[in-house]
Amino acid sequence: MESQAVRAAMVRKIQGQGITHPGVLAALQSVERHRFVDSALVNQAYEDTSLPIGLGQTISKPGVVARMLELLCQGRSDKLGRVLEIGTGCGYQAALLSHLAREVYSIERLKGLHEKSRENLRWFRLSNLHLLFGDGMLGYPKGAPYAAIIAAAGGNDIPAAWIDQLAVGGRLVAPAVTAAGRQNLVVVDKTPTGIVRTELEAVLFVPLKSGVA
Ligand code: SAH
Repeated sequence: MESQAVRAAMVRKIQGQGITHPGVLAALQSVERHRFVDSALVNQAYEDTSLPIGLGQTISKPGVVARMLELLCQGRSDKLGRVLEIGTGCGYQAALLSHLAREVYSIERLKGLHEKSRENLRWFRLSNLHLLFGDGMLGYPKGAPYAAIIAAAGGNDIPAAWIDQLAVGGRLVAPAVTAAGRQNLVVVDKTPTGIVRTELEAVLFVPLKSGVA
């Protein structure tokens, strides 16, 4: 498979959806998504669709990943500082983040996926990416404060630990259930004068669960 060309087509499609951040587009062009899915699904790796990654979880649609990363990087052309990702899954978004941030901590609660992501990512040799096994609802205090926090699983609300561990000037992007009872993308900015929460479009992410398994 000439994956460079297929990825370029995926990136053009994502640009067509309105994504413009050069760093995000470059990361999407560079990271080989087909290395994160089972061999039976490789042909679908560059379609704008979510795919099963085992243990009932999914790798998010590239278009949604791009949207969230663009929100995270909005208004900045330099790299983000330390970033926390909740829900490593297969490791695809973690690999993208390692291109966009100086340091990435990515935490997964399912041992099987934590190990799978380590295997998937070995080939990429990303020295600024730290894979952690644990309950991401508690965040990861050792790496705090974070310039950015991103979650790939949605709960009823944004855990307080995430907001605590966000740096002033930092931004959090996560799916969460809103007053209307639907799951929407939520952006939380921690400004010097307080927390600003913005609810965006409806999304469909796997549930955020507590504890490890
Ligand atoms: N970014 C991932 C998406 C994986 S789906 C990728 O590119 O593949 C979301 C992941 O969040 C699942 O693997 C699920 O197990 C994990 N998850 C759910 N609740 C969690 C929690 N409290 N802490 C850490 N990971 C969690």
